[in-house]
Formats: sequence, structure tokens, C-alpha cells
Amino acid sequence: MTIQITGSHSVAIGKNPERSREHNRRVVLDVVRRHGTLGRSHIARITQLTPQAVANIVDELVGDELLMETGRLKSGRGQPPVQFAVNPKGGITIGVEFAADHMVTAVLDLAGSLQAKRLIPLKETAPDHILAAFAAEISALKQSSKAKLLGIGVVMPGPFDVDGMTSVGPTTLPGWAGIDAAAALGEACGHSVVLENDATAAAVGERLFGAGLAISNFCMIYFGVGVGLGIIQDGTPYRGAFGNAGEIGHVMVAPKGRSCPSCGQRGCLEGYASLYALKQKLEAAGIMETEFSDLEALHSSNNPVLMDWIDDAASYLGPMVAMLENILDPQTIILGGALPDAIIDGIIVRMSPLPTSVASRRQRELPRVLRGKTGQLIAALGAAALPLFDVVTPKLETSLAVSGIPD
Ligand SMILES: [Zn+2]
Repeated sequence: MTIQITGSHSVAIGKNPERSREHNRRVVLDVVRRHGTLGRSHIARITQLTPQAVANIVDELVGDELLMETGRLKSGRGQPPVQFAVNPKGGITIGVEFAADHMVTAVLDLAGSLQAKRLIPLKETAPDHILAAFAAEISALKQSSKAKLLGIGVVMPGPFDVDGMTSVGPTTLPGWAGIDAAAALGEACGHSVVLENDATAAAVGERLFGAGLAISNFCMIYFGVGVGLGIIQDGTPYRGAFGNAGEIGHVMVAPKGRSCPSCGQRGCLEGYASLYALKQKLEAAGIMETEFSDLEALHSSNNPVLMDWIDDAASYLGPMVAMLENILDPQTIILGGALPDAIIDGIIVRMSPLPTSVASRRQRELPRVLRGKTGQLIAALGAAALPLFDVVTPKLETSLAVSGIPD
């Protein structure tokens, strides 16, 4: 596996030793996490930290139970080096997804393994109701796990705080307009809560545990109820000035097209290439059973309504892929979300041939489009990855350590 070492804008934080120390801890943790196991001298070589600094940081991380010793590597001469790995028992993170009619909870350990999951139907999405359900769920999880709680991530459908786009429509949660959701959720459960839109959380999940592990610049087209875009740039999520970057669901793809109940415009991508659009199309054809497993069954029986939607979605997503490539120049674009693998694969196949873009190079390390993680848990897993991302990855986007700081 290759580690991307990009940029060196770490210089600016060199003036603040406390932040630099924290940064270097994350750099070490991140490097070990990506390699599985590493010895001290290997860590020093990759991070360009001094052996003494690495020894101190590793000791500290072992003391905090974030790293653990995994034995000695057999080598040629002399004392073989002690190997270190991320300690799965070092803590847990909880991820919660609120959707229109249900709440999904996922618990991850520090190594990213799923420890618990639960899906609870929600009768209503008004803040009082959701906050009570959330507080009860977190308190139950805290009682059932002895591990240290490292953080809670929550995803709700965005966009956040956009006049005319927040409180209406089938793909957003009614009743939350004007509410500081992160603060309200944090108060309800007594922990700080990281709030993110589902697409960005899913992209963070891909970056930590999925196809994005070794890819530092990618876009993720995410199928929730609507369709969104998560952008990972130089290893970290790009959120924009107000946290709404990537709201591709409301990019107009069909002038004078279908009217969009969420934003009031016509011809939004979401009206064609989203789970919501698929369900509408199926219901119009008299197919009312449209849960995840129903969609899998429809696909394996080559249902013509579903196949037609896949064609339709691909015809709008292909140009979107080329546009994203032209604007952001990512290494690849990952498609994932709450759709079965086979349907996402179908969309990718039907998008071909993709329009020409800056990504139309003959020599590519990665295909222009990849399938990422899918399934009903994906948003909750992404949510659980959010606080983990804060624990295990360097905040400033360079894998290069900050040198010249007294240890
Ligand atoms: Zn719209």
C-alpha cells in the first residue's frame, strides 16, 4: 500500500507546541492504522519524525490504549523490532442516522469493526420525538458497553439552513428548520455530537475503512433518500463555507424537467437519480414494496421498471461524473449508499461510455468510477466514522509530521 504524502503546510502550526504534539499523535496513529502493524523505526521513516519523538508518542498512545504491541517482527540481525497496531479495545464510537421513517445506530471499535447495530422505526421526525429517541438509545448503548466512548456522530439529510430548502420535501426532515441540531442532540445525550450530512459522512467512512483508504482525493456520489456528494480533498472532507458543499441533488440536469418538491425548482438531479425517484417510479407502476430487500429481489428478477430507472439514472449521472471530474479533478468517483450492490453496479455499467473529461487519461491507476460501500447501515457507519476520523487522522491535511518541535 502506498501512503500519499502531499503538501507541507504543516509549518504554520509549528508555532504552537500543544497543537503540534496532538497533530503528531494523529500522524503516528494514522500511519500505523493504514499499515496494519509497524515498528518504531519504520514509523519514524514514514513520518519523518525523530526516533526519540516516535518512541515518546508510541509510548503515550500505548498508555492511552489507542495502540498496542503485537509482538516482534522476525528480521535478520539483532533484536527484532516490536510491532504496534491500533488497539480495537481502545474505545468505541457511536453513529446514528436519522431518516424519514427510521433511526439506525451503529457502534464501531477503534479498528472499525462493527460492535452493535440497531434499526428503530420512527413514527415522527419532529425534534422532541427524535431527541427523546436519541437520548434513550445512547444511554442504552453506554450501559451495554464497557469501552470508552470516543465520540458520537449523527447524520441527517442536508442541506442545513438554506432558506426554502430545509423544512419541506420528501428527502429532508420536517420540523428541524432553524434548530441547531448538533447542540440539541448533544444536550439530549450529554455528549458532544458531530453532525454531518449523510453524503460527507459516507465519504469519511470510505476514507477510513473502504475504497478510499489509499485514495486521498475522491468524490462520493451517495444514494440516501435523495442523492448527495461527499468530497474528500487531500484526505479530509471538503464542506464548503456553510457545510453544504456537494448538494448535487438540486443541481438542475433537465431544464423545464420535473418539479422538485424540496427546492421548488425544476429538473433537479434528485428527481431522476435518487432512491426517492426510484420509489415513485415503482409505485406509479403499482409496485408498493420498495424496501432494501424488495429492491434486491426486483433486480434479480430483471424488473423492467427498475431496469428503466437504472438507465435513466445513469443517463443523468454520467454527465455529472464528467462535470465533477472537470471541476475537482479527483483520483476517482465512488458510488455508494442505501442501494443494493447490484443496482449500483448496474448504474456504473450503464454510465459507460462516460463523457470525455479531464479524467479521460489513458494511463489511470484507478477506474473513473468505483462502487463503494452499500447497504442500509452505510449512513450510520459513516456517522460512527466521523468522531473516529477526528481521533485517528491528522487534522491538517498532510501526512507529514511537524518536525523541529520539542518532544
Ligand atoms: Zn431540487
